[in-house]
Amino acid sequence: VDIEIAKMGEKLQATDVGSIPGIVNDVRNTFHSQKTKALEFRKTQLRKLYWGLKDHADDLLAACKKDIGKGTFETSTEVDWCTNDCIFVSNKLEEWAKDESIPDIPFTQSMLRPKCRKEPLGIVLVIGTYNFPIILLLLPLIGAIAAGNTAIIKPSENAPNVAVVVERLVKSSLDQSCYRVVQGAIPETTSLLDQKWDKIFYTGGVNVATIIAKKAAETLTPYTLELGGRNPAIVTKNANIRLAARRLLWGKTHNAGQVCISQNYTMVEQHVLEAFIAEMKGAMKEFFPNGTRDTDDYGRMVNQRQFARVRAMLDNTKGEIIMGGGMDESDLYIEPTMILLDSAKDSLMSDESFGPLITIIPFTSLDSAIETANATHDTPLGFYPFGSSSEIEKMLQGVRSGGASVNDGFIHGSLQTLPFGGVGDSGQGAYRGKASFDCFSHRRTVTKTPGWAEGLLSFRYPPYEGKLAQM
Ligand code: NAD
Repeated sequence: VDIEIAKMGEKLQATDVGSIPGIVNDVRNTFHSQKTKALEFRKTQLRKLYWGLKDHADDLLAACKKDIGKGTFETSTEVDWCTNDCIFVSNKLEEWAKDESIPDIPFTQSMLRPKCRKEPLGIVLVIGTYNFPIILLLLPLIGAIAAGNTAIIKPSENAPNVAVVVERLVKSSLDQSCYRVVQGAIPETTSLLDQKWDKIFYTGGVNVATIIAKKAAETLTPYTLELGGRNPAIVTKNANIRLAARRLLWGKTHNAGQVCISQNYTMVEQHVLEAFIAEMKGAMKEFFPNGTRDTDDYGRMVNQRQFARVRAMLDNTKGEIIMGGGMDESDLYIEPTMILLDSAKDSLMSDESFGPLITIIPFTSLDSAIETANATHDTPLGFYPFGSSSEIEKMLQGVRSGGASVNDGFIHGSLQTLPFGGVGDSGQGAYRGKASFDCFSHRRTVTKTPGWAEGLLSFRYPPYEGKLAQM
């Protein structure tokens, strides 16, 4: 099956569905051969991945540009995150993989020398999405390799050029008996989900996550889900308005707003609404002095479907467009567009925009803003409160989220050593830094009973008569 699109000479070729069980079986057999258990092997693979990324960096830049209009700066950060992770994880591997002693063991039990061994889960499936098509596949893969698993990764068919380059990179850098790429869309992913896994790691939307969770339940397979959400930002009159506007504009123009943790809407205290809007417009001119149309610093909607979805959101809103609004379907271009709403009941609030829509809603009391955030999405992926320290504490307490950046756009998601994940329906589980290693490891509790302890232990054997009284 050919997926129509690839524009880089090499066509994205979906993996033959009939071959998928065999591929999974081969990789499973490799896991049982113990090949991936040695730390030196894992480090070698991470080192090879590092050099593979370096070798393919230019192709990845070109592919990301073609797939999602992403410029050199934004794609380079994706590649750098992966190379940095290869180094960081390799350096930390001995420490993380070490057996863990158990504290607070009563003296009488310490003779059993209890420990937690860090064992790989086995064979893992990583399914990625299109908006950060490199990191969302390779950062989980780095965690899986580090923890000693074998893995199959399935790139998003919606970023076909990156998918092709990632496959080439993995093939040329990593041990093919351990780590494989399966390409394709729904039929291929469905076939992958029909196989038995030891862990499924999925990044994408809620609907597919539900399919995955149901499928995983059939075989009691553990999973990590990295999903989306309608993330709120709240700006009170006590915030630094200029900083809030600049930082939130960054959060909405990066990758043309196709960022799972960017704010979906910003509630601004009425008192500073005008100033906030003026600062947003000022920051727009500063960030993009020649506009967003002809610059490498601003991306495109990934495809026609996503373009049409965001355009429909703009068509349906009752809000007023107060900045931007320009678009060009032939180029999948949507200008950063600010919309002022007078009601949180507007249709713009009912879906994640996943595009460059800067939705503003005024509020008059912080309690009502917190209430609106909770009514809009009880467990968003990110939260961005701006205000005085006491207001920020009140907001952090009042609004749940997977992560939060105080006085900033989504910076918490850029700290590579910080666990990243959602809560409730914005995701389950976390990764990045040590959390990536833990995400793909089993903490196996092991005791070792010495022969000499038999005398002491014989107390546990029947007959029990009279023994309780001696305790
Ligand atoms: P997508 O269309 O690329 O799909 C994601 C993956 O699911 C792809 O690999 C695709 O092949 C697979 N898929 C699609 N339909 C399927 C089906 N019926 N059965 C099995 N697999 C299927 O991307 P998407 O789902 O539109 O992703 C966008 C969402 O991802 C947004 O909601 C965004 O917030 C979220 N996201 C979350 C994170 C995070 O880290 N939490 C990061 C990026 C994006």
